[in-house]
Amino acid sequence: MIMKLNIGVIKGDGIGPEIVTEAMKVLDKVAGVYGHTCNYTQLLMGGASINVNGIPLTDETILQAKKSDAILMGSIGGDAKTSPWYQLEPSKRPEAGLLKIRKELNLFANLRPAILYDELKGACPLKEEITEGGFDLMIMRELTGGLYFGKRQTVEEDGVLTAHDSLTYNENEIRRIAKRGFDIAMKRRGKVTSVDKANVLDSSRLWRKVVEEVAKDYPEVTLEHMLVDNCAMQLVKDPKQFDVVLTENMFGDILSDEASMVTGSIGMLASASLNETKFGLYEPSGGSAPDIAGKGIANPIATILSAAMMLRFSFDLDKEADAIEQAVEKVLKEGFRTIDIMSEGKTQVGTEKMGDLIAGYIE
Ligand code: NAD
Repeated sequence: MIMKLNIGVIKGDGIGPEIVTEAMKVLDKVAGVYGHTCNYTQLLMGGASINVNGIPLTDETILQAKKSDAILMGSIGGDAKTSPWYQLEPSKRPEAGLLKIRKELNLFANLRPAILYDELKGACPLKEEITEGGFDLMIMRELTGGLYFGKRQTVEEDGVLTAHDSLTYNENEIRRIAKRGFDIAMKRRGKVTSVDKANVLDSSRLWRKVVEEVAKDYPEVTLEHMLVDNCAMQLVKDPKQFDVVLTENMFGDILSDEASMVTGSIGMLASASLNETKFGLYEPSGGSAPDIAGKGIANPIATILSAAMMLRFSFDLDKEADAIEQAVEKVLKEGFRTIDIMSEGKTQVGTEKMGDLIAGYIE
């Protein structure tokens, strides 16, 4: 079916505009080959929005974002030590825009695939016997509840400054993310590892109970529970054991960064944040990399793979998503590398050239 894809684009800050431009190039190519049309609406968020509007996310931008079928985003933020954005109060800094858009668009499910490509085995810090044959896991993190959205305050108690952060989950929040996790596992290898701290936390005990209830509707999927401290160890000891790792907000924040390091390069890692409909926000896992912004050397592959996830999850265009993923693999096999994944004997290319090569391999 020929489709018109209405895509909101947040290029963002730092390397954001460079890497998103390449992802759009690849999207246009795949759309051209398969007969679709991409309509882009440029949206401002983060530092780019502060520069124009004084705040990181306006109501108008939220409205525009809601009208899109999906959002493709670069990354937002700057160097906290030098950027004037970080002189502003916390609620007006770039990252506040990110938290707000997730909440406004109800993006409660964050997907971060961690794939070890055979061609990039050398970048993996783990021993070869652990990574033999590669691995492909998906961290599914709850994104709009838990500690990061709970009540917080710092007060003086008996003359001592005391900080409080509260971790709250209700059963509905747990159920909807669990269902998403099992749905994704059905399309993959049929295993969910639910990660919690049920030996200590009440929120984790409820998490475990609800996940077990949801599992009854998915008899084809194997469910296992793992404590978060053990999971942190298992990710480096035996990452191949994992298919979908389902977990709450803060645990997922930490584990997904760990999983990304295990694959070797942040520049390769895509991500998606989904709501209950087909709508999603797709962005690379890394930040705005102010240290390399404007140099034309950033790796655009994570953003290009995020665009592939967008085609798969928001538009059900699986063939088109496959075409992008295969083009990325082909470019790696041919030996082309951006500086972050460069190794001896390979051909180093910049951001734009990498985008050209990937678009060129889509036929
Ligand atoms: P970062 O991910 O931006 O950079 C960490 C390191 O990885 C840097 O050395 C950087 O050069 C490198 N790197 C990241 N992406 C790369 C790419 N595509 N190609 C090559 N190298 C790449 O993390 P940071 O330095 O901690 O954060 C910088 C800014 O990004 C901060 O303002 C932070 O708040 C923001 N941030 C934004 C998001 C987001 O938009 N979702 C996520 C994380 C961090």
